[in-house]
Amino acid sequence: MKENRGRIEALERLIVRYQNSYYNGEAEISDAEFDLLWDELKTIHPKSIVLAGVGKDIADGFPKAKHLIPMGSQEKAANPEEFRIWAEKAAAREDFGGFLAQYKLDGASLELQYEKGRLLRAVTRGDGTLGDEITPNARRMQGVMAELGGGKNAGAFSGGVRGEVVMIHNTWKEKYADKANCRNAANGLMRRKDGAGSEDLSFIAYDVSALGNDAFFPSETAKIDWLKKRGFAVTESREFSRAEEIIAWREETARKRETLPYDIDGLVVKDKTTDSADLRRARPERQIAFKFDLETAFSILRAVEWSESGATYTPIGIVDPVRLAGTTVQRANLNNPDMIRALGLKTGSAVSMVKRGEIIPKIEGLAPPGALETGKLEDIVFPSVCGSCGTALKDEGTRLLCPNTGCPKRLHHRLEKWVSVLDIRELGEKLLRQLFDSGRVRNISDLYTLTVEELASCERMGEQSAAKVIRHLRSRRELPLQVFTAGLDLEGVGELIMERAVSAGYDTLEKLASAGAADLAGIWGIGNITAETIVRGMGELKEEIGHILAAGIISIAPPPGKDEQPLRGFSFCFTGELKTMKRSAAEEQVKALGGSVKSAVGRDLSYLVTNDTESGSAKNKKSRELGVAIIGEEAFLALLRKPGSAGRVKAQGELF
Ligand SMILES: [Zn+2]
Repeated sequence: MKENRGRIEALERLIVRYQNSYYNGEAEISDAEFDLLWDELKTIHPKSIVLAGVGKDIADGFPKAKHLIPMGSQEKAANPEEFRIWAEKAAAREDFGGFLAQYKLDGASLELQYEKGRLLRAVTRGDGTLGDEITPNARRMQGVMAELGGGKNAGAFSGGVRGEVVMIHNTWKEKYADKANCRNAANGLMRRKDGAGSEDLSFIAYDVSALGNDAFFPSETAKIDWLKKRGFAVTESREFSRAEEIIAWREETARKRETLPYDIDGLVVKDKTTDSADLRRARPERQIAFKFDLETAFSILRAVEWSESGATYTPIGIVDPVRLAGTTVQRANLNNPDMIRALGLKTGSAVSMVKRGEIIPKIEGLAPPGALETGKLEDIVFPSVCGSCGTALKDEGTRLLCPNTGCPKRLHHRLEKWVSVLDIRELGEKLLRQLFDSGRVRNISDLYTLTVEELASCERMGEQSAAKVIRHLRSRRELPLQVFTAGLDLEGVGELIMERAVSAGYDTLEKLASAGAADLAGIWGIGNITAETIVRGMGELKEEIGHILAAGIISIAPPPGKDEQPLRGFSFCFTGELKTMKRSAAEEQVKALGGSVKSAVGRDLSYLVTNDTESGSAKNKKSRELGVAIIGEEAFLALLRKPGSAGRVKAQGELF
């Protein structure tokens, strides 16, 4: 056991190191060697956090990692009226603790995950649950600490520090003025594979949570004090008791916005009473983004382009160039046919556009009368037939699409998606195009019947490279259901959405294929349209899915069974030394089995683990007072071997 532990630790260290160097574009070992390490760890310690927390996200080259607490969407107030409604409700709560208002930084959110005071990983916002793991880049940023400062207790902290990655105006002016604005520059730099330029970014903290210990921070102001003490730069904050004072501060702040060293787009206002349950909500109720008035630009719509992706045709408006939120805008999103009809838009219309963090702004309506002189008004022409297959397009209102399931554009798009999700790099764009145009490969399953001879006869291909492609294609892969289905290109439904369906219980192909749109739409983060797209796509591809799996190379990983997390709901606190393993290893095993670790004894603690069950230590004493089960190391090890017994032992309040 002990020897094994050493090997596990070595493997984990190597995998993390090679992953980091790989994503920095300086791979130290070959993919095959990496896979060997990965497989070995998977065999001897399948529950390793390295395997669980960090998946290799093939689509964009960054590993994905889960947030400690999901980053929900923020409640928003666009004006004082909306803010007053929220503030009244907040102040009416029994445990209302006053308001804390902070600058709302306009950069990119990042969660720094600390374990025992050391930076373990840095995760971008992503979809709120899963983000990109950009730890090596984060380590180079100003204000990101590899180890927490501020005294001897710092090293005991495990949890997440939330903040915003921003670029200071002066840095932008000096070095990155070619980028549209500071936010764009920061977003681009923090996601560079080689990490270059991350040192020009600053991390400014605004929130923190302690892992498995919700009572660690008594109030929102205590969090800010703690962050300062640990050495973090924090966003400007002030305490208020009345809503009207905050409205005035927002006005004042908006006026001096231009003179600040970094961009902000409003205030975040919180109830000072810390409420961890609220923070975990998809939309926390005890805080709100009180945004500055949105910047709007007016221009003339000159033309509409229909951008094609898969089966869908999306309208993009081409407008006279105009400045908006720091960038020159010439293209703006029109969303879908219904939107054009609802606004009565024509080419020549004077339109109003806003930008809410998207890459291209959105046309929100007609410009107010008199704002701009309209051009020559002409009806917007919708394409009527598919440019690829000639099929009449179907106008569903929210979507204009080619309904032909065999449309070449759609098929080719699906192949590209599959190849990119599976990261079959040897099968490049040109080769795929050749195979597609010749008719040899039209569906994903066709890829698995290719032979070396066939490939070798393609342009610019030799025996050797053909063999390499085949080898890569044929290497057996067990894909998690969400990756498999993302690869099917269900009209833009990606891995993050599918992961939500999987974690909501649709965790086998059978369950997913028989789910109705209403079932899926009931899952947090999946809307009606997306739910319908999934159901329709799974139906259309039923036969093709069968063919892919029948080829015997791709299989779908079995769902993680309930028994993978047998300690879910149980918490452990350790005191004193363990004989067979380090405390950190013990804690890791508890977490891997779904349990949580606490640093202090409280009423909700399930087990105190100690080798000296009779000692008069404070933790022992308190456990006895509160009736918490106290167990020795051997009993603890027995629990790890048979974690299913945790409930029984706990229920009986049995002491070992
Ligand atoms: Zn078509």
